[in-house]
Amino acid sequence: MVAVRFAPSPTGRLHVGNARIALVNWLFARKHGGHFLLRLDDTDKERSTAEFAAAIEEDLRWLGLDWDAFARESDRFPRYDEAIAALKACGRLYPAWETAEELELRRKLQIAQRRPPVYDRAALKLSEADKDRLTAERGAPHWRFRLDGRRLAWSDLVKGETVVDTASLSDPVLIRGDGQPLYTLTSVVDDIDFAISHVIRGEDHVTNTGVQIELFEALGGLVPVFGHLSLLVDGTGAGLSKRLGSLSLASLRAEGVEALAVDALLARLGSADPVAPVAALTALIEGFDLGRFGKAPARFDPSELRALSAHVLQLLDFEAIRDRLPAGAGEAFWLAVRGNISTLTDAADWWRVVTGPVERAVIDDPKGVMAAARGLLPEGPLDQDSWSRWTAAISASTGAKGKSLFLPLRLALTGRAHGPEMKALLPLLQHDEIDSRLA
Ligand code: GLU
Repeated sequence: MVAVRFAPSPTGRLHVGNARIALVNWLFARKHGGHFLLRLDDTDKERSTAEFAAAIEEDLRWLGLDWDAFARESDRFPRYDEAIAALKACGRLYPAWETAEELELRRKLQIAQRRPPVYDRAALKLSEADKDRLTAERGAPHWRFRLDGRRLAWSDLVKGETVVDTASLSDPVLIRGDGQPLYTLTSVVDDIDFAISHVIRGEDHVTNTGVQIELFEALGGLVPVFGHLSLLVDGTGAGLSKRLGSLSLASLRAEGVEALAVDALLARLGSADPVAPVAALTALIEGFDLGRFGKAPARFDPSELRALSAHVLQLLDFEAIRDRLPAGAGEAFWLAVRGNISTLTDAADWWRVVTGPVERAVIDDPKGVMAAARGLLPEGPLDQDSWSRWTAAISASTGAKGKSLFLPLRLALTGRAHGPEMKALLPLLQHDEIDSRLA
């Protein structure tokens, strides 16, 4: 059974980088008939908020992602206590009292001496008397995980054969001095308890994976399959971290970017498969293949996203969009405008053009197109053929052709020089409205 999870920390808004990880996990689950867990990594009580947690759910729903199960790490402290007890019992956790300043000083010294800046395990050598003294002087310790120091190799779903040598790493702190268990541990306990089969996450977690494989083994859990996606970079190859505010899903949504465009782009970015607009999220499942993702950083271009968003709108039929259109806007309106808009806000603008009043334009009309047009407007309901019949009659009567015929009419009827095809717009207007705009 395939079981994956997306595990954001509710300490900020989701951005395109997070969304990519969420989407790829979701697609992997749906492709393989698996299970998708949303897990909030909220053990950090100072930085996690209920507002960010709610916003994560809102953003995922906006993307169209649903989850089969939901978990919150803050509900699971008793389980972490059990795991901590087990690790202490087998001698893999040891207390340490160094302050951040002391550790930093030691690190600088090691670097100056050209030694690897790895924790020297001084705390492992403390006697019971030392520990009592330190507890009296400094209070409760933090706890480090004693790494085995092995070459851990795994066959990564994205990166292929990958090795982390834990002998080159510092023993990680798993429990803070205030007793708070840290992500490296809690994530593994959860992945074991929720029977996660595949951990798909960003490349920034590769080193964690080495440590966490040791933890899976120490806790007697099954080691999942890992896949580490390359990171997103901007056009210059730099990481996106500085611009993540403007690349939050909330700000893209506010800008009018379609969720399906975000999905379509992120489902293929960095893979060997081309990006193409889709009219439904499910259309991305069939062709999804994690094995097609490359090791190289993936370039994320916001202008590509905006262009894709306009293409997505062109693909949407009326049923898919009706709830998001202005009241009264029907299918004929949508079909008339969807090819001429970048965002739905543009559609609302065109709806205002249809309902009027339109801006008065300065119109150059030496051939008297306007006056002729008023007299020649076909009686009865207007349809897609009305425009060509009407303009042919106006042309015959005034001799106006091409731009001198069409531009004055477009300007009078819409207040704009460009826009959707007039043959599609005309039937949306009432006769008296057309007449007053021409007048
Ligand atoms: N909360 C972690 C993060 O957002 C989860 C990483 C993981 O997928 O294990 O980076």
